[in-house]
Amino acid sequence: MNHRPFVLAGLMGWPVSHSRSPDIHNHWIAQHGLRGSYVLLPVAPQNLAQALRALPVLGFAGCNLTIPHKVAALSLVDRVDPVAQRIGAINTVVVQQDGTLSGFNTDAYGYLHSLMAEAPQWAPENGPVTVIGAGGAARAVVVALADKGVGEIRVCNRSPDKALALANEFGPVVVAVPWAQRHDALDGAALLINTTSQGMGSQPPLDLSLDVLPLHALVSDLVYVPLQTPLLQAARARGLGTVGGLGMLLHQARPAFESWFGVMPQVTPALRVQVEQSL
Ligand code: NAP
Repeated sequence: MNHRPFVLAGLMGWPVSHSRSPDIHNHWIAQHGLRGSYVLLPVAPQNLAQALRALPVLGFAGCNLTIPHKVAALSLVDRVDPVAQRIGAINTVVVQQDGTLSGFNTDAYGYLHSLMAEAPQWAPENGPVTVIGAGGAARAVVVALADKGVGEIRVCNRSPDKALALANEFGPVVVAVPWAQRHDALDGAALLINTTSQGMGSQPPLDLSLDVLPLHALVSDLVYVPLQTPLLQAARARGLGTVGGLGMLLHQARPAFESWFGVMPQVTPALRVQVEQSL
């Protein structure tokens, strides 16, 4: 008889059926010979509070949260990690020994570690970063860049209020740039990041000219379906280095897995291939 505990974790969202998170976490469970499972938890918005409180009762070590629960959960858990507080959203819940719930956000970690793994030549001192978009993913990216010491983050969003809110919250390191000036906001930038949904699936490509982006700049896209977005293709055509969105998805899962299963997993080529094949 095996006395090691069987550890449960999962993803709460509405809907959740499209998620690749079970592939990622169950890959690591098998790789590390752990007893456990990561399951999909379709939870309607009106049931979120009850579902979160059921986690300790059902023996869960915790869960991830996705659309539409990431912001609502902030006020439903017992404590919120300062990084999650600044991002304004929770994507990971950990059940503590006493049954209380702690909320974290691993998206900033995921973005930064994906960037460092795939573009080791990037450093915060390389120059300004231009972020297109100011939604939830952009907030995580801005926190990651600001904490890493980037001196100038230009945020350009279709709806100006969200970019201005980021500039107000994060101080002079974040500069809000009007949407009409997005092409010029690439002048002198060392890194361009698309955090909008443009270029994803059936969405039109991001309407952005790369003409003034320096030739040493990197282009990063958070969209990972398709892996090669029109933006990344245009960047490659200009000879620029690129970083796709899949790495962020894989790396954000690592600290969450560690908090539930006690092992910090790695992003291996085998995992990447497995997830790529499921896209
Ligand atoms: P969100 O909070 O809904 O934000 C969406 C962003 O896209 C906003 O800035 C929005 O601008 C902009 N946008 C939407 N339609 C646009 C259009 N037609 N033209 C210009 N801008 C437009 O969503 P999110 O959670 O930040 O996610 C954004 C993207 O990042 C999605 O594609 C998501 O899949 C991806 N993502 C990837 C990862 C990863 O692990 N790789 C993690 C998180 C998110 P407005 O404010 O003007 O509406």
